[in-house]
Amino acid sequence: MTQPVFRFAPSPNGYLHLGHALSALLNFDMARAAGGRFLLRIEDIDVTRCRPEFETAIYEDLAWLGISWEQPVRRQSEHFGDYRAALERLAAMRLTFPAFESRAEIARMVGDRDVRERWPRDPDGVPVYPGAARQMKEQDRQARIARGDPYAIRLDMEKALEWTGPLRWSETGAGPSGESGEIAAEPAAWGDVIVGRKETPASYHLSVVIDDALQGVTHVVRGQDLFWSTGVHRMLQSLLDLPAPTYRHHRLILDSDGKKLSKSTHATGLRELRAQGMTPANVRRLVNVAV
Ligand code: GLU
Repeated sequence: MTQPVFRFAPSPNGYLHLGHALSALLNFDMARAAGGRFLLRIEDIDVTRCRPEFETAIYEDLAWLGISWEQPVRRQSEHFGDYRAALERLAAMRLTFPAFESRAEIARMVGDRDVRERWPRDPDGVPVYPGAARQMKEQDRQARIARGDPYAIRLDMEKALEWTGPLRWSETGAGPSGESGEIAAEPAAWGDVIVGRKETPASYHLSVVIDDALQGVTHVVRGQDLFWSTGVHRMLQSLLDLPAPTYRHHRLILDSDGKKLSKSTHATGLRELRAQGMTPANVRRLVNVAV
C-alpha cells in the first residue's frame, strides 16, 4: 500500500487565523495517525497579493502550533513552467480560449442580462462568464494578442464536459449540505472557468491540481468553502490524466456574526492569540481538535 500523503496549502496573502489552524492541525494529525507524510505548500501564484512577511509568519505560526513539515517546501511561484506545460496541453486539445473582457466589462454585460433573465452565478456567487470570446475568429484573437491586450485563458466548459463525461469524487468529510460519499462533480456550475492569465500561466484551480499530483498527495483535507471547486479539480485531473486524491472537506470556523473568517479579522489571528498569552493547546481546544 502506498504511504498516505497529506498537505496544508495556505496562500501568503495575510496572517493565519483559527480556520487555518483547524486545517493544518487536522492534516498534521491525520498524517501522523496514518503513518503518512505531511507537506506544506505555499500557494503564492498571485504575486501582487502575496508577501514574504506573510510567508515567514506561516512558518512561525505553524511551528508554534507544534506542526513540522518536510523540506523543501514547494512554493508555487517557483514552478510556473509546470503550470504553463499543462496550459499548453489543454490548448493543444483545443479546450481553452483567450477572453479579453475585463472584470468591469463582464459586470456590465451581465448587468443587462441579469435584469432580463437572471444571469447564473458560480458557487462563489460570481456571474458566470457570458462573453462571446469563445466564438472569436482566430485572426482577431491573434491580432489582439499581438497588440498586447490583457486576457484570461478560459476552459471551454462545454467541450471539456464532452471530453470527460460525468465525473465523481470520494468525499469522506461533508459538503455544505451534508453531502458525503461518492459526489457527482458539477464543474458546469462554474462556466468557462479561468485556468490562466496572460501575465500568470496558472490559476488556483490549475496549480492545485498539478501540485497535488506532482507531490503524490493522496488525501486533500481542506475547508468546506472549497467543496464545489472540487468539481473543477476533478475535471482538470481527468483532462490531464492525473490521479484523483480522496477529499475531506471540514467545517469552517465562523466569526460571531456567523461569517467565514477572513485574514483581516484580527480577533482570530494566531499571532494575536499568541500575543494574548494563548497556548497551542488552547488553540486546539478552541477549534475542537483533540489535544
Ligand atoms: N490555497 C488555498 C487557500 O489558502 C487552499 C487550497 C487547497 O487546500 O486546495 O485557501
